[in-house]
Parts: sequence; C-alpha cells; structure tokens
Amino acid sequence: MAQKYPETLNSLISHLKKLPGVGTRTAERFAFELLRWKPEELQEIGDLFYELPKKIIPCSVCGCLTQENTCRFCDSRDATSLCILSSPRDAYAIEETRVYRGLYHVIEHLLSPLDGRHAANLRLDRIEQRIEKHQIQEVILAFDSTLEGDTTALYLKQQLSKYPISISRLAFGLPVGSTLEYTDSGTLARSFSGRQSL
Ligand SMILES: [Zn+2]
Repeated sequence: MAQKYPETLNSLISHLKKLPGVGTRTAERFAFELLRWKPEELQEIGDLFYELPKKIIPCSVCGCLTQENTCRFCDSRDATSLCILSSPRDAYAIEETRVYRGLYHVIEHLLSPLDGRHAANLRLDRIEQRIEKHQIQEVILAFDSTLEGDTTALYLKQQLSKYPISISRLAFGLPVGSTLEYTDSGTLARSFSGRQSL
C-alpha cells in the first residue's frame, strides 16, 4: 500500500502516536505543526531529545530524577521517614501537597508475577540499607490503589516487619484502580495525612 505521506513525515507521525493520548489525527496535526517551526527550533528540541537519556538520570541514592549524581530530595530532608514509590514522577505529585518532608525511594516497578515482575527485581536490599543507615521510624508505601499496588505493599510489609518501624500506606478514599498520577493534589494531601498503618 502506498504511504500516505513522504516517508520521513510518516515516520514522525508513527513516533508521535506512541505518546499517551495521541491518536493518528492528533499525531498528524502535531507533525504538520512541526513542519511550520523554524529550523533552529526543531534543532533545539531535537538536541533535547538526544540529550534526555544522558542528562536526566535516576539519583544513585533514591532513584528520583536528577541531572547530578544525587537529587535535591536527598539533601537536608527529615531522615526519619522513607516514602516508597513505584515511579519517580510520584515524588513530584507528593511534593506538591507540601505534607511530606522525608526521604523517597523509588522501586523499579510494582509486583506483577503474571507479567514477569517478581520480588527479585525490587532490590529489597537497597531499601533495607537505607532503613539501617538513617534513623527511619516510618515507611510510607505510596502505591497506586491497584492489585499490583496491594501485592507490593503486602510483600514489603512482610519483608520489613523485622525492623522496629511503623509501615503505613496512603489512604486513597478513592475507588480501587486509582493511580497517583491522576490523583489531584488535594486528594493526595488528604491520602497522605490519613495514611493507614499496615
Ligand atoms: Zn535522591
């Protein structure tokens, strides 16, 4: 079948369609808009894309995003609480609520054995090292209210029960299936303040 557009334009459209919420029509509209941009602007955004994986890296301590070796969340924070997240993006959502001043720790993913995401990939040893290194008194599990979130919370609760710390989980007050990403700041602040002991 003949391609609808010149090859490079087709290719651009198929890349744009990988973005969340972008269908064929929107991708086409974006692509034609980009064709109107000045070459310098396109060069600038192209350079940004190119540098993204080199410049934005996970913090070597907590896994949040940074351009340095360690991140701003690891500096001068209240080191008595550790909030465990499944996405670095969630740290920004929690920061916006201004109810938390403790440390963060990002795990690579939530447990989902059916999808091959097992406990071995959680790097529990790294969490344990941080609990032992700081004066951690509370671990807050800030996971989505999904089956994977529940499974991961239960697993971590069991594994960390050997420490004399309290373990709590965000109280969503929202239907099962809600994710932090789509929770508004007010609701998230309430979930944080009303976190429940596990
Ligand atoms: Zn950090």
